[in-house]
Amino acid sequence: MLSDRAVPLYEEPLFRPPSEAESLILQITVGCSHNRCGFCSMYRMKSFRAVPLPEVERDIAQAARQWQGEVRRVFLADGDAMCLSAKRLSEVLDRVNGAFPRLQRIGIYANARDVLSKSDDELRALRERRLKILYMGLESGDPETLARIDKGATVDEIVEAVRRAQAVDMSVSVMVLIGLGGRSRSQEHARASAEAINRMEPTYTALLTYTPTPASPLMDEIDRGTFELPDPLESIREIHTFVSGLTCRTHFTCNHASNYVPLKGNLPGARDHLLKVLQGALDGRIGLKPEFLRGL
Ligand code: SF4
Repeated sequence: MLSDRAVPLYEEPLFRPPSEAESLILQITVGCSHNRCGFCSMYRMKSFRAVPLPEVERDIAQAARQWQGEVRRVFLADGDAMCLSAKRLSEVLDRVNGAFPRLQRIGIYANARDVLSKSDDELRALRERRLKILYMGLESGDPETLARIDKGATVDEIVEAVRRAQAVDMSVSVMVLIGLGGRSRSQEHARASAEAINRMEPTYTALLTYTPTPASPLMDEIDRGTFELPDPLESIREIHTFVSGLTCRTHFTCNHASNYVPLKGNLPGARDHLLKVLQGALDGRIGLKPEFLRGL
């Protein structure tokens, strides 16, 4: 894993999607410019800032000295680096492309409004510079749940952002958080999230199970007793409803460490198989991952 070696000057903590495990991580922003999602405490300790271009160039040069011929994938951190202007992103992408001759793709975390603020021509120009995959949080297709967590975008905006990115041939991986509607909106959250995914038809749909973290508003609600998490079987029922509602083509994964039952498959073909596994878990024929083995 490139990012685990003696890399240049990261401001920790550093996060990346699981599928970027082999990528060089380049920190072009620090923190998250939104930093308000109720379930997220990843960047609460960081003040957001864009890393100045000369510092990014220095990091690229240092990485190129160490791994020039090895780097095939680059991931641009931190939490919503797509918030930079198209001009600044293009400058960074040009330098990355120039430094690594075997580069195949560049990925980034993106919020919907940061995609929508860019024109189609700007998105196309970024794609031409190998920005090939965006990781976006839908979190929930249920407007009430989305407003409660202060996602900073509506369901319609997220759907439109995914469609516009895919229209210029970017792949998009969309995350949905099981449990985010709480016990009271579990089924609404599942149904509405499936409907939103059907509308956007993302390349990848990744299901994670919400695990409360300290220093987040939703954790405070749990402590106050105003938000109650579904129990493990209710979570599985929620996933069952979600998968039942999916009719689009998407590569579905539910194999994150946070999930009680690992699942993956290409939809819609794999849907019946996935539902059988989930029913097996609900019936007690398939064991759930014990709490101590679950991770964020
Ligand atoms: S979930 Fe993403 S957009 Fe929301 S606060 Fe965390 S890093 Fe920022």
